[in-house]
Amino acid sequence: MPELLEVIELGNPVLRQQAQPVHDVQSAHIQTLIDDLIVTVKQANGVGIAAPQVGQSDRLFIVASRPNLRYPNAPSMEPTAMINPRILAHADKMVKGWEGCLSIPGIRGQVPRYQAIAVEYTGRDGKQHQQELTDFVARIFQHELDHLDGIVFVDRVESTHDLMTEREYQRIVVG
Ligand code: ZN
Repeated sequence: MPELLEVIELGNPVLRQQAQPVHDVQSAHIQTLIDDLIVTVKQANGVGIAAPQVGQSDRLFIVASRPNLRYPNAPSMEPTAMINPRILAHADKMVKGWEGCLSIPGIRGQVPRYQAIAVEYTGRDGKQHQQELTDFVARIFQHELDHLDGIVFVDRVESTHDLMTEREYQRIVVG
């Protein structure tokens, strides 16, 4: 049975580490971690979660966009494990959009991200995938990829005036 993992928060040094490449995708450790991350992100109403957020410094994350209480307008997709992910190319255009992070509870920020990216990653079955991602899903990918490099979304805001508390975000932005 997959188990819920504790999500570590800003200040924990693991969130600032460079995560290590995954060499054995089929290992029990990695396969169990993927199952546990999927139940953990779902329970937390997240749309993505990276291994370092549960204290595991491995280059893998889950993208699990779906509408929920924290992101009512998110598109639906199957939770997808992306291992050793990287960006192959990106559009010039950057767009600002609201983000939050399970490791930074209570804060939202407007973060500039590439609107479209071409990405590559290994799936949980060990197969290589190349894909083009746009808009919200591209945003999730870039947010999670940053976690693998020790970067969090508040590092990316242009101004501290682009930050809000969750309560004001719900009141002003979601309405
Ligand atoms: Zn995050």
